[in-house]
Amino acid sequence: MYMRKKIAVLILTSFLIFCTVPAAPAGIQPGSKIIQDYIYLKAGKIKPEPAPFPGILKQLENLLGSGNAKTKDLYIIQLKGPVVDSWKEQLSSRGAVLGDYIPDFAFLAQMNPDTRKAVESLDFVTSVAVYKPEYKYSNQLKSGADGKTTLKISLFGPGGKSIVKTVTGAMIDELAKDSNIVFMEPVPDFKIFNDKAGAVIGAPAAWNNSLQGQGQVVGIADTGLDSGVNDSSMHRDLQGRVKAIYSINGSSTADTNGHGTHVAGSLLGSGAMSNGQVKGIAPQAQLVFQAVASPNGGLNIPADLAQLFSQAYTAGARVHSDSWGSGKNTYDYTAQSVDRFIWNNNDMAILFAAGNNGDYNGDGYPNYGTISSPATAKNVIAVGASENNRPEMGTISDNINRVAFFSSRGNTSDGRLKPDIVTPGSSILSTESGRAPGSGPYNNAYTYMSGTSMATPLTAGAVTLIRQYYTDKLGVTPKPSLLKATLINGAQDMGYGYPSRDQGWGRTNLAKLFPAAPETLKFDNESIALSTGGVKDYTYTVTSSGTPLKISLVWTDYPGSTTASKALVNDLDLTVTGPDGTAYHGNDFAAPFNDSADRLNNVENVFIKSPAPGNYRVTVKGYNIPNGPQKYSLVVSGAMGSIAPAPSPAPVPVPSPAPSPATEPTPAPAPSLTQTVNITQTGYLSSTNTTKYKLFYIDVNQPGQVSLHLKWGATATDLDLYLFDPAWVQVAKSNAKANPEVITFNATKTGRYCIKVNAYSGDASYILTINQTVSTAKTAVMSATGRVDVVSAPEKYYDLTVGTAGSVNIQVSFNNTNQSDIDIFLYDSAGTLVSKGTSPYYRVPESLSFPVDKHGKYRLKVKAYRGASDYKMQAVYPK
Ligand code: CA
Repeated sequence: MYMRKKIAVLILTSFLIFCTVPAAPAGIQPGSKIIQDYIYLKAGKIKPEPAPFPGILKQLENLLGSGNAKTKDLYIIQLKGPVVDSWKEQLSSRGAVLGDYIPDFAFLAQMNPDTRKAVESLDFVTSVAVYKPEYKYSNQLKSGADGKTTLKISLFGPGGKSIVKTVTGAMIDELAKDSNIVFMEPVPDFKIFNDKAGAVIGAPAAWNNSLQGQGQVVGIADTGLDSGVNDSSMHRDLQGRVKAIYSINGSSTADTNGHGTHVAGSLLGSGAMSNGQVKGIAPQAQLVFQAVASPNGGLNIPADLAQLFSQAYTAGARVHSDSWGSGKNTYDYTAQSVDRFIWNNNDMAILFAAGNNGDYNGDGYPNYGTISSPATAKNVIAVGASENNRPEMGTISDNINRVAFFSSRGNTSDGRLKPDIVTPGSSILSTESGRAPGSGPYNNAYTYMSGTSMATPLTAGAVTLIRQYYTDKLGVTPKPSLLKATLINGAQDMGYGYPSRDQGWGRTNLAKLFPAAPETLKFDNESIALSTGGVKDYTYTVTSSGTPLKISLVWTDYPGSTTASKALVNDLDLTVTGPDGTAYHGNDFAAPFNDSADRLNNVENVFIKSPAPGNYRVTVKGYNIPNGPQKYSLVVSGAMGSIAPAPSPAPVPVPSPAPSPATEPTPAPAPSLTQTVNITQTGYLSSTNTTKYKLFYIDVNQPGQVSLHLKWGATATDLDLYLFDPAWVQVAKSNAKANPEVITFNATKTGRYCIKVNAYSGDASYILTINQTVSTAKTAVMSATGRVDVVSAPEKYYDLTVGTAGSVNIQVSFNNTNQSDIDIFLYDSAGTLVSKGTSPYYRVPESLSFPVDKHGKYRLKVKAYRGASDYKMQAVYPK
């Protein structure tokens, strides 16, 4: 123990002498690095500081033992682009325990200091940021009158474990420091969604094709079911139809509210008490009912919804209808738990009511962004309400092409399109509970109700018939994604157009299951799984432009993180290419229909109103699959020939980082013709970050002029510029409230100067241009041209012999069309990565500036990250 300490001190001393570290402020990060993407947390969109390279201060920090080597802290590891599995394997093999995926391209991870160091040196890691306690609070947390708060706490680790704790404010702050805690949010208060009265829709097209729900089992969790006992006391419309009635957490199975009985009747009531006139959409389906009413008027919903759904699934249900929610537009633990259940089981379609907050302020205009958790979940079918056709009941149900005023509108807080679908939900006539007298009379067997609560079971009935269509007519067991894709593909635009926060993808329309010739319906029921970079092509032949061509892609996504402000994890892209080569991107409904890619939704549609006859290529691509592989369903409807889909090529393998071939160094030294070195640095600073400045170093090897030019994008932000000489004396500054800030300094001393860019107020991305006259007598310039190709020749190497301390400045110019991207890496003579330039493809040229402290051989790697391109490389380094 003693010995070890002594050695550490010795190394530290020699290191200091050798390096002559200037007495600079803490937090110096040599080299430059551009961060490409934000990290989207509910606490805010953060731009992490670059991963410190294993440079001077880092080594000091390690020697001084700033962290306990065994303690595992929580970090956000951001990767340089769409996630490939081999990266995750490399992170794990170095000891990082990966947790939730955080957009963009990042994971939560527990690591000890050694692991952190090893992870930071990986060339696909762009940053490692501390996951701070302040990231863990929901902004919806409120304390009660007693000063205490009840928290729903998401824990680190697989399976989405959580706990509930009631604590005081001070204890919340203590909990936030716990590296096992990911996020803390309020415990939801669930409500049923009914408030007005109404009528029923029919589904004659399906009924006339003998689809009535026979053999299908549906689950409903609601206030109770009529008498609560499955015998002759049960409402006659439901008698003989109930497979099971469960009481959840002691709830009464008898329905003293009336909501549960009404909902059940809309889904599968037989109409026995009205000679079949008032019946549900799947009038021969079986029911598994879960009573959840609590005596205090609330709902007894299990904390993890998987408990609820597992029970219904075990009893045979494959469609589950839920007309309740928390009223909060957030992707919270509840929403996550639904997504997790569907991801893990992938055999039950779950529908949730969107909520009734569509005009909560009563001004007659829609209130957007009012969708209610868990309808905010990605893998559910979120149901809004359109108006029923019962003009005698008033304006609430006199226009079938209007969304009901009360129906909660999208989008979700992260901009995902919701609701998914609308179905009539106003003035719905359905079964009345015998235990809830006076709930709005029609007669003593039926009553009117309105709400997205009513639209949801009608939609669940439609999904049940779609499921029966696949099982009975086609012999296929449809995945939830196929049921959702079929529902969405068949939906009727009510005139709102696409995309719409009011109608979602339109109004439920079962007639599309049985289209009139020449229209046909084709589908893929999760036969393919894609990883990042994987592609699957389909070809469909359109024979007539008289029928719209509609292509719907839906996937059951991996559950998102409660701390992330974007819920999407696995991101597929849909592209349709017409006979004339015109491309259409999923969910891009504005001309030219192909200039944006959807990065939010797990539903993508392309609708072509009058498709020119010919072959259409439908491409599904895995853009970023951090938790894959990802399966999907595809539904295509249109006037299509009977030609079978063309054989498609096998999915393209993931372009994973190839092992470095032993490429011979290509020495291409060229005589320097320039006396002026022009370096551009870009970055981002925020005055509210702990480190609100960035330091750059330049070496002046002969007296001459140094010109600095700093400009930035955000006009309200104020950045300042300072210049320090080799003795660490401030020799120039530009700190007015001006943009740009400019310094022109006549440097008479030679040696290493330091440039400081400081965020005085606000935050901005900036560009710093350094113009400097250098003596070529003491600086070597290596220029080279070459070509790298991610498939055939991904890497080229160059050796630089550095003669003295100074700054290595490297620029690589390349052609970035087709998103080709080239990165540069600098290694020392021991083969350790010392600096890297890994900015995104649109930042050309790629550059890095790295101060070298020792002479010797350095190796420069030029690497194709994506695509292929010719490049020009120039390296300026001390001779
Ligand atoms: Ca996408």
